[in-house]
Amino acid sequence: MPDSYEPYEVYAVRYAERDAMHNDHILNSDPHNGPSPMDYFVWAIVGNGRTIVVDIGFEEKEATARGRTLLRRPAEGLKAIGIDSREVEDVVVTHLHYDHAGTVSDFPKAKFYLQEREMQFATGKHMSHKVFNVAYALDYVFDMIRNVYDNRVVFVDGTKEIAPGVTLHHVGGHTDGLQVVRVPTKRGWIVLASDASHYYMNMQTENPFPLVYSVGDMVQGYATMADLADSPRHIVPGHDPLVMQEYPAPTPESEGIVVRLDVPPKDL
Ligand SMILES: [Zn+2]
Repeated sequence: MPDSYEPYEVYAVRYAERDAMHNDHILNSDPHNGPSPMDYFVWAIVGNGRTIVVDIGFEEKEATARGRTLLRRPAEGLKAIGIDSREVEDVVVTHLHYDHAGTVSDFPKAKFYLQEREMQFATGKHMSHKVFNVAYALDYVFDMIRNVYDNRVVFVDGTKEIAPGVTLHHVGGHTDGLQVVRVPTKRGWIVLASDASHYYMNMQTENPFPLVYSVGDMVQGYATMADLADSPRHIVPGHDPLVMQEYPAPTPESEGIVVRLDVPPKDL
C-alpha cells in the first residue's frame, strides 16, 4: 500500500461508444473473431483538495464525422460526480488523438499536462501520413497549440509528479508521446493506462492495438505499467467495456455513466 500518501478517489466516466469487431482491436488477427464494442472514457482523480481530470474526449462534430455514438459531452458526465469542468484547474492529456483531446473550451481554467514528445509528434513529419494522422483531429491539435501560446500547457519530459503521489509516465507506443497516470488509492497503486492498452486482452496477450506508432514501445509499455501498478487488476485499460461491468457506480444516479476505480473490481 502507498501508505505515505493520502489516497485518492478515481472515477471512469463513459461518454461515447461504437460497434466494432474483435479483430479491429488487435495487430495479429484471431480466428475467433466476433462483435466487440468499444467504450470511450475520461477519468477523474479526486483527493488532497485537488480534482484532476484525465483526458477530455470529443464532441458532436467529431462523433458525427467518425460515426461514433456520443452519449454525453465529457463535461456532462463529470457533472454526475459533482465536477464542474469550468472550475477544473488540472487536466492531463494522455495524448492528442481526437477521442482524448477534444473539448478544451469546456475547461476554461485548466492547465493541460502533455508530454513534449506528443506535441512534437502531432505537429511533425509523421503527420504527413494518413496511417499516423488518421486519429488526430486538426481542430483539436490547433486548440492545444493555442493553449501553448496562452501558457496553459505544462510540458512533461518523461516522468512528473503533479499532485502528492500522482505521477505521469511517458510510455509512447500507440503515439510517440503517450503517457499513463499512476495514482495512490486505498486499494494500492493503480495505473490509468489510457491507450497504452485499449482492452485488457491487448496487454494480457501482448497483442497490440493496430493503430500504433512503435510496436516495440507499446509492448514495453505493458511492462512499464506492470511495474507501476500493484497487480494486473490495478491497471485500467482505456476503452474496454468490461470496466463498466467490474467496477461499481458511485451513486444510483450515475449508474451506467460513472464507475469508481479505487475500490476492488468484481471478478467477472
Ligand atoms: Zn483512444
